[in-house]
Amino acid sequence: MVIADRVVKSFGSHTVLKDISLTVNRGEVVCVIGPSGSGKSTFLRCINHLEKLDGGRLTVDGELIGYRQRGDKIYELKPKEAAAQRKDIGMVFQRFNLFPHLTVLENIMEAPLQVKRQSRAAASARALELLARVGLAEKAKAYPASLSGGQQQRVAIARALAMDPKLMLFDEPTSALDPELVGEVLDVMKQLARDGMTMIVVTHEMGFAREVADSLVFMDGGVVVERGEPREVLTNPQQDRTKAFLSKVL
Ligand code: ATP
Ligand code: MG
Repeated sequence: MVIADRVVKSFGSHTVLKDISLTVNRGEVVCVIGPSGSGKSTFLRCINHLEKLDGGRLTVDGELIGYRQRGDKIYELKPKEAAAQRKDIGMVFQRFNLFPHLTVLENIMEAPLQVKRQSRAAASARALELLARVGLAEKAKAYPASLSGGQQQRVAIARALAMDPKLMLFDEPTSALDPELVGEVLDVMKQLARDGMTMIVVTHEMGFAREVADSLVFMDGGVVVERGEPREVLTNPQQDRTKAFLSKVL
């Protein structure tokens, strides 16, 4: 589903992603851990083409991200084409970024209406279905400010799902939440994983990684240092850098 092949990304003279190669199969859940500044968010942003690569290539479901190939020639996508490509990839950030002036239901309907040109009836029916799925059916008419952080993040997940993405990217979706609200968001993500969604999750929730992920990736200094079965990486890391990191966070 996702193939990152020798991905390089720099900001000025600072090379943030040095050489990232990573394959994620359809239906697979991959958790990514690593120290602050190691390039985790940048990597997710590259997959979603919010950042442009300086080297290597990324494909999602066989589509080259940011480019179109015609014969031997490769063209850069225009902003509109890039947006069209992005609509198949859902992203959930640390901050929920809901539209404050729209109700929960309208937040979820927004992209299907504007981007997919769905009818209001279809978008609304689907939004209600997704709200039920994240356990918030009764909040359809509420405004984001009246919800807890955990509820807002569940709405953000429903909003991403409303575009029927083939891939979901999560960037520390629970790290801005009060501890007692983390579980309800992780539960929604667990269910999504069980339903077969392909997911890349940057997280510090090692319990989630152990229970849900098919594999765990440790990133440091812009490279993938280690990847393996989560339990294996957490209890028996092979690389010194992984050991040093885990000894600080576990
Ligand atoms: P954290 O755990 O703190 O979220 P991270 O692993 O997600 O860290 P990134 O946010 O990907 O790390 O950042 C990697 C490096 O790239 C950092 O040194 C950061 O300062 C730098 N960086 C990220 N985005 C930009 C940008 N738009 N312009 C310049 N530098 C950037
Ligand atoms: Mg980050």
